[in-house]
Amino acid sequence: MTDEREKRRAELAANLDAFEERLRDACAAVGRSREEITVIAVTKTFPAEDIRLLAELGITNIGENRDQEAAPKAAACADLPLTWHFVGQVQTNKCRSIARYAHVVHSIDRMRLVDAMSAAAVRAGREIACLVQVNLDHVGADRPAAEAREGPGHRAGARPSDVLEIADAVASAPGLMLAGVMGIAPLAGPARPAFTLLRDVAADVRGTHPSAVVISAGMSADFADAIACGATHVRVGAALLGSRPPVR
Ligand SMILES: *Cc1c(COP(=O)(O)O)cnc(C)c1O
Repeated sequence: MTDEREKRRAELAANLDAFEERLRDACAAVGRSREEITVIAVTKTFPAEDIRLLAELGITNIGENRDQEAAPKAAACADLPLTWHFVGQVQTNKCRSIARYAHVVHSIDRMRLVDAMSAAAVRAGREIACLVQVNLDHVGADRPAAEAREGPGHRAGARPSDVLEIADAVASAPGLMLAGVMGIAPLAGPARPAFTLLRDVAADVRGTHPSAVVISAGMSADFADAIACGATHVRVGAALLGSRPPVR
């Protein structure tokens, strides 16, 4: 092992240990078991070699948010027993590529995307687990401040009132399996009200689709709030891999 690789491995191991301790505390604080939580290491902007090191350290779930980056990294790590999660916004013209490596797509947020992902999954001969992404942008947030920080346009996710229709479509789409819901807390304002709404939407979806038990919520800064609100999957980047250069 090169010195550089050994150094990075030690760094990742220390990050994993520190995060694991915070995760156990967050679970204990709300009377949940650590075993209920799946940790997805979000490796965007970091090299495939980091994924290899994380796998050596016991990580089995990897998250990426851009197909252009994820596809080559998944190919470079094809020999590893990993579950790949696509957590970013999906353009319909990327479905064919994403369907070749993703096991779980967290960001289904419109009917047209259900059709495109279904066609891509069938074509790839694979079954893809899908989460309906719920837009939580303005929940509990000071609206003008949130809009100011998010800039023009809006972020991904279906309106809560549209989620059931999309969930039904996923559940009956060939090649797709409805696994649950996903949400991202607003940039401005507290995370709790947003994750509480997500929990309510998840319960509605389970009312019709009892096996759709996944709640993907919580990142490095807010995973404890998400765990308090029933998250089953946390998506953790910076706390495991270190800080990223700012997104363009
Ligand atoms: C980058 C990213 C994460 C991880 O964020 P951190 O703050 O680095 O933990 C989680 N979910 C999505 C959708 C992301 O794009």
